[in-house]
Amino acid sequence: MSMERTFSIIKPDATRRNITGRIITKLEDAGLRVVAQKRVLWSKAQAQAFYAVHKERPFFDDLVAFMTSGPIVMQVLEGENAVAKNREIMGATDPADADPGTIRAEFAESLEANSVHGSDSPDTAALEISMCFRDDEIPG
Ligand code: ATP
Ligand code: MG
Repeated sequence: MSMERTFSIIKPDATRRNITGRIITKLEDAGLRVVAQKRVLWSKAQAQAFYAVHKERPFFDDLVAFMTSGPIVMQVLEGENAVAKNREIMGATDPADADPGTIRAEFAESLEANSVHGSDSPDTAALEISMCFRDDEIPG
């Protein structure tokens, strides 16, 4: 087991429904610590850059429209095996496939409006954190 950081987003469907606190409680109850956090409204260019890995996918334009449809809460989470642990707490991408008790099973509205993002590997986490936070915005 190793101490790790991962990047998390509480998506617009969740900020709209005022359930950011309920989601953060799930993260904290699972042993993850919020070591940096900010609420922002992404521009189209920021959403396109963040999800550039999906730019050839048929859902890309819809995803960018959704991610810019309202404020998001970006977070750096820290804990033992934080990347894998966060993915476990989030549940499967499609809430219909998400295990009971996971964030997406409890809160997601649809495959697209699925309440949270989490980095899928330590390398992706480092990249996403550096895209969205300056070092002096991560007090630890
Ligand atoms: P995320 O990257 O947001 O943590 P994920 O890693 O579980 O989610 P990805 O395959 O990376 O899933 O897809 C990124 C996001 O794009 C999903 O979380 C979802 O919001 C949206 N998405 C994925 N597949 C579809 C689809 N078939 N139709 C609509 N939206 C989709
Ligand atoms: Mg992903």
